[in-house]
Amino acid sequence: MIALEIGGRRYETASPDLFIAGHRAGERAGRAAEDTDAYVRALYAQGDHAAVAGYLHGLASAARQQLPRHPASCTCPRCLFDRRELRESIYRVWREAAAA
Ligand SMILES: [Zn+2]
Repeated sequence: MIALEIGGRRYETASPDLFIAGHRAGERAGRAAEDTDAYVRALYAQGDHAAVAGYLHGLASAARQQLPRHPASCTCPRCLFDRRELRESIYRVWREAAAA
């Protein structure tokens, strides 16, 4: 797996080019409110799993950009998920630094 950073978020994928292309397409589609299900199904049918993952993360990214900011203490599932991701990413960096 290869680590990627897009828009301040970390992702891991076996196929970075496909993932990035999928992410761009997902962000575009999310902003334009396109019908995205057919596109995801087509990518699955082609076996482009990295592109599917990138696309779904791109859609999520576009949705986050459209939503108002949540307060730091917000307990909605998205904020809980984001804070857990942040904690794990800080821990990963700390562990790598400690190992060096
Ligand atoms: Zn929230």
